[in-house]
Amino acid sequence: MRTTSTENRSSLEFVPCPLCDHVGAFLSLRITSKDLHIQKYGALYAGNALSRWAACSRCGFVHQNPRPSLTSLAHFYTSGQYHPPELPSDFKKYVRFANWYYSEKVEYAIAHSGKPVGSVLEIGAGLGGALLLFSERNWEVFGMEPDERQAQFASRALGVPNVRNGMVDDRFMLKNKVDLVFSNHAFEHFADLDAVMRAIARVLKPGGRIFTTVPTYLDNRSTVSKQWMNSAHYSLFTDRSLNQLFSRYGFKEISHTYRGWSKEIDDLWHVAEFRAEPADPTQYYEDAIAVQRYVNIYNPIRSVFYAPLFAGYSKRVALLTGMVRAWGLFRQAPITFLMNLPGHLRRWWAR
Ligand SMILES: [Zn+2]
Repeated sequence: MRTTSTENRSSLEFVPCPLCDHVGAFLSLRITSKDLHIQKYGALYAGNALSRWAACSRCGFVHQNPRPSLTSLAHFYTSGQYHPPELPSDFKKYVRFANWYYSEKVEYAIAHSGKPVGSVLEIGAGLGGALLLFSERNWEVFGMEPDERQAQFASRALGVPNVRNGMVDDRFMLKNKVDLVFSNHAFEHFADLDAVMRAIARVLKPGGRIFTTVPTYLDNRSTVSKQWMNSAHYSLFTDRSLNQLFSRYGFKEISHTYRGWSKEIDDLWHVAEFRAEPADPTQYYEDAIAVQRYVNIYNPIRSVFYAPLFAGYSKRVALLTGMVRAWGLFRQAPITFLMNLPGHLRRWWAR
């Protein structure tokens, strides 16, 4: 069912499946979490408290449907209703954060890029933290960021070269093709996935790779898993649905993991190689009924089960890592360990 509403700018529209273009039935998904973003996007949702999500009955893709129309989105952004996040006031603190947040992702991307050094394009470069780490590792960097203030922060405050304000769409070009495309929490925001993929295929060298991280509902370890189905996102990918999208544009998976990051939860990391030979996307279709069951039943059960373990994840990882290390020290020399314990605790607390 496809309806396009043009008479009301704030209305939502039903869209075909963003991956397989299916226009038939969609299986509705139960959203139980509070939408932390809907206040920000409120005008687009006409007072609804939650966005609506569905699994495509043909390919199982989890996406927002109905969703704000492209015209209402354009109006929303150009009429000053969108309020981007505050820029960091403390430059040094941001650099520390960027090292903490991006280092594992950048290391993983480089390790799976097939090259020790090369050129990288980041899609959705944000404040420039990831590109800063790439340039410290002697990579030639390019970045696109839709938010003008963030792009300016990256170029001026951080001094990252070649960060431009704009979208990666059908008008996007680079002078020279790059070895690697890096994309951290960006694909779930793209309204037009095909325009992004066409642009990537234009600017990536044959044999080049794309590293993608996205929040995911699958294999979750947290109570926030279903909160990813919110008004700030259009899609929630799994490794299979990413492969469905990528295979249409000639990309083949090199590796993926749901356990790449110790710092946050429900994060899928994925690397694919550009072979310029489209493959059959139907091999990556997911069973829509199984997806619906997973999201509506299995996922909340997992979330409840894991809640006490994984709420406040990064602190807990630090605590658990500390406990494992403490056990090691205790086994080596119990008396010395007990004498030093107050100091250890003080240092852990100060982290
Ligand atoms: Zn579909």
